[in-house]
Amino acid sequence: MLRSVILAASRSSRVERLVETAPLTRDVVHRFIAGIATDDALHTTRDLVGDGLRVTLDHLGEDTVNPDQATAIKDEYLALLGALGGAGLTPAAEVSVKLSALGQKFDEQLAYDLTRQICAAASNAGTTVTLDMEDHTTTDSTLEILAKLRLDYPTTGAVLQAYLRRTEADCRELATLGSRVRLCKGAYKEPESVAFQSAIDVDKSYVRCMNILMSGEGYPMLATHDPRLIAIAEDRARWFDRSTDAFEFQLLHGVRPDEQLRLAAEGYTVRVYVPYGNDWYGYMMRRLAERPANLLFFARAMKSRK
Ligand SMILES: Cc1cc2nc3c(=O)[nH]c(=O)nc-3n(C[C@H](O)[C@H](O)[C@H](O)COP(=O)(O)OP(=O)(O)OC[C@H]3O[C@@H](n4cnc5c(N)ncnc54)[C@H](O)[C@@H]3O)c2cc1C
Repeated sequence: MLRSVILAASRSSRVERLVETAPLTRDVVHRFIAGIATDDALHTTRDLVGDGLRVTLDHLGEDTVNPDQATAIKDEYLALLGALGGAGLTPAAEVSVKLSALGQKFDEQLAYDLTRQICAAASNAGTTVTLDMEDHTTTDSTLEILAKLRLDYPTTGAVLQAYLRRTEADCRELATLGSRVRLCKGAYKEPESVAFQSAIDVDKSYVRCMNILMSGEGYPMLATHDPRLIAIAEDRARWFDRSTDAFEFQLLHGVRPDEQLRLAAEGYTVRVYVPYGNDWYGYMMRRLAERPANLLFFARAMKSRK
């Protein structure tokens, strides 16, 4: 119930204005977000890489409404990739891209063209791009754009969401040689017709999808903070004889940082998803919807400013 309300608010521009003008402390945003500028992203990346972690950077933004905005976001990514390469932070750091930030909702060809430029810049910088997955109305379009990008940039990563009923079939399609696939539970509010609704059904689907990816030929990227799923993944790695460089764990910046370090100390490849930029509202609201404790943290920080 609370999750539904917060996810609905994440799409409301009225609530967005309210929250954005509230006296948010730096602490709240900084727990999950590296900062506003490219330099902030570099700083956080350097720290994480210094701790033996890998990074995927997301320049925050989604649901772009015009080509100028989409082009500006592409330019941000090109600047970021140049800076990461220049600082010697590739290939430890790669980038994650939301196609809706690059115009997917109004011009799929534009989104493809701009993402292609980002893939070219990533390739020049010696690193990779992963296409984040958004709500289910964009899944087919995103997978089509992925297939086209992979013709020239085969390391382009996909994201599949275990809450969608279609995802087992998508995992089978994508568990091919060299195919980088991030598996997550899914962060959007989706109707029953397309998505499992109960946590247990989503978890069971996650395990079925993980089995397909871990026994397949691709490179699974298991994105979850869930202790049970992480334990099952460790088990499957043994079952399917996957070495620690033949798959990776992924966690969000600011979420279970001790677990990130524990997994890395065990020898696993661990990548931290690090968002940065001004447009943090939708991202923060999805994190709040996932965990009431995040909401309490948020409320405490707001109160302490008054
Ligand atoms: C790297 C990465 C990339 C992602 N990319 C996408 C994407 O492209 N598209 C998309 O739709 N979604 C994406 N997500 C979000 C994802 O779909 C989930 O919404 C999010 O990860 C929460 O699911 P969970 O697997 O962590 O488990 P949850 O069901 O949220 O949590 C399960 C258990 O994990 C533990 N846990 C969770 N959070 C915390 C915390 N803050 N502190 C302590 N313990 C905690 C608790 O034990 C909890 O019971 C991504 C997530 C990650 C980690």
